[in-house]
Formats: sequence, C-alpha cells, structure tokens
Amino acid sequence: MSQLAYPFGETVPAVGTTLDVARGVRWLRMPLPFALDHVNLWLLRDRQDGRDGWAIVDCGIANDATRAAWEQLFANGLEGLPVLRVIVTHLHPDHVGLADWLTRRWSTAGHTCPLWMSATDWHAARLFAGTGNGTDIGAVARFLARHGLTDPVVLGEVSGRRRFYADGVPDVPGQYHRLMDGLVLDIGGVQWRCIAGYGHAPEHIALHSAELDLLISGDMVLPRISTNVSVFATEPEANPLELYLGSIGRMRALPPGVRVLPAHGRPFVGLHERIGELEAHHEARLADVRSACRTTAHSAAELLPVLFHRQLDAHQTAFAMGEAIAHLHLLAARGEMRAVTGTDGVVRFAMAA
Ligand SMILES: [Zn+2]
Repeated sequence: MSQLAYPFGETVPAVGTTLDVARGVRWLRMPLPFALDHVNLWLLRDRQDGRDGWAIVDCGIANDATRAAWEQLFANGLEGLPVLRVIVTHLHPDHVGLADWLTRRWSTAGHTCPLWMSATDWHAARLFAGTGNGTDIGAVARFLARHGLTDPVVLGEVSGRRRFYADGVPDVPGQYHRLMDGLVLDIGGVQWRCIAGYGHAPEHIALHSAELDLLISGDMVLPRISTNVSVFATEPEANPLELYLGSIGRMRALPPGVRVLPAHGRPFVGLHERIGELEAHHEARLADVRSACRTTAHSAAELLPVLFHRQLDAHQTAFAMGEAIAHLHLLAARGEMRAVTGTDGVVRFAMAA
C-alpha cells in the first residue's frame, strides 16, 4: 500500500483561486474535459528587469473555461502584479495549450512575456498545432494494424480525433527560450534546476528547488496514476518505457523528503517510494507480457486483455495499444523477446529461445 504523505490533505484550490504551497509558490487547478478532469499549474513569484511579477508553470488546455478561470485569477489572485514569463514542462495540450494566449495577453510595448520550454517539445508542439498530430491518419491506421488492431470502430475513433492536438493547442509562440537538463533558472531569487525526463513526452522538463525543497514533477511522477508511456506511429520503433524508467530512476538523486508538486493529483511527500511503486507497476506488467508470450506469440492487440483487466472504449483502446507496444519493445530491446511478422502482416512477439 502506498506510503505517500499529502501535506495539504484533501484540500485542493477551487478553479480560479490559488493555494500557497511555499514561499512565493502558489498552486492552482484548471478543469479538463476528460476522464482526468484537472491539471495542476503553478505560480512562482518572479522578478525580471526590475519588475515584480509572476512566472507561470504550465498553462491549461485552450478552451473558454480555462481562459475564464485565468481571467478570474488575473483579477484577484496575482496581487495586481503582471505575468512576466510562461514556463512549460512539455508539449501536451493541458500543459502548453494556452501558452500562446498567455504570452500575448501579458506582452506589452515594453515587455515581451516569453515562453520557456525544451527545444524538442517546442518544435514538436509547433508541428502538431499546425498539422493535427504530426503524421497522416493512414500511417496511424497502418501502425495499429501492424500491431494487430483492425477494429473499424477504434480506427474510426482515431481518425475522428486527428484534430485533437490542434483543438487543445491552437497555436504555439513562434519564439521561445530553451530549457535544458541542468539549466538553472533564477525565478524571483530562487534557483530552480531543470531535470529532463523522457518516455512520456519528447523532452519533459521538471523543476527542482533545493532551497524550497520542491520538485515540480509535471507528468513524470504522479501520486495516483501511472504516467502514460506509449509508442506512437510517428516513431514506430521507439522504446519509451526504457527511457521513462531511466528518467524516474535518476530522480532518486533528489532528497527523499522533497515535496512533489505533480501535474495531476495532490502535492505529496514520498518521491522515492513513488518511484519504487511505478517501477514495480511496470515490472508486474512486463511479467504479465512474458508469461503470456512464453507459450504463444502475441501481438500488442492480443495482449490488451492480459494488460488491461477492464473494458476499454475505442479511445482507451488506442492509448492502451501504445502502452502495450511500449512494454513489448522494452523486452525486445533487452533481448528477451523477438518480433516475428506473420503472413497476415501482423507483428507478434515471442520469448527469445
Ligand atoms: Zn503529459
């Protein structure tokens, strides 16, 4: 059972309000129109060119509800101070969605409110916002079919959602400041070190302040749910699970008592315990895959009932496929499994002899 401690108990900030979590650090929540119904964002007291104000960490998805909540905060929650910069952990719509709106909203003749983001995610976000999802829908359907998924309902759902990214991220600022692993940001006199993480997004940036004993973990370490780690059609031979496990393993270098500010769920203490739980979760999944493939080669689609013990709708099935392929690719990369393409064109994985 999880041993995490939640310093704020069940308390969460109401939409349009903030909760102080440390000196100069405020927690806010934005609604999301999904099963995962909220995202946590952070306000850090900042000072730029002699002006006091705020740095925003993550933006919320682009829709009217989120813009209205931001306006409510601007009216009441910032002590009358401006937003001086926008920092984004990674390219997903709930994080980068309103970056363009926010940076425009707070740029004046004398001050450009800049975006700070990793180069990899900035480039991908610019591409996806322009094209829908970076690849054509035929390539997605061929990728899923190669892994054994031919259900027309699921494929229809996938093609129906091709605008998903661009709807949540209508535009991305055309200029940015680059965040990189190890870079130290001075935000209002507090040092925040960037920690790059892989496997969930191309180059996710978490922020650690030793002085405040805080880790803004983004989506890399979440208290209740496991981070989505998927192979996508854009990089069909990727091994994101190895990257993800390596990334969270490196976070063990942080102090065990650090307060973790995650993008979903509540702030918690118990980083090392949570990393251990996430590793155990994936190890258990890998063990399930091994035992299923020991006697019979399985495609990713054939593994879904092994890995997911619940009914999946079409949308969840598309995500589950990405996760199943990620587990298979890790085992193949480690030499435990080999991939064989059948006469039906479907790739199946068997335990290596
Ligand atoms: Zn994400």
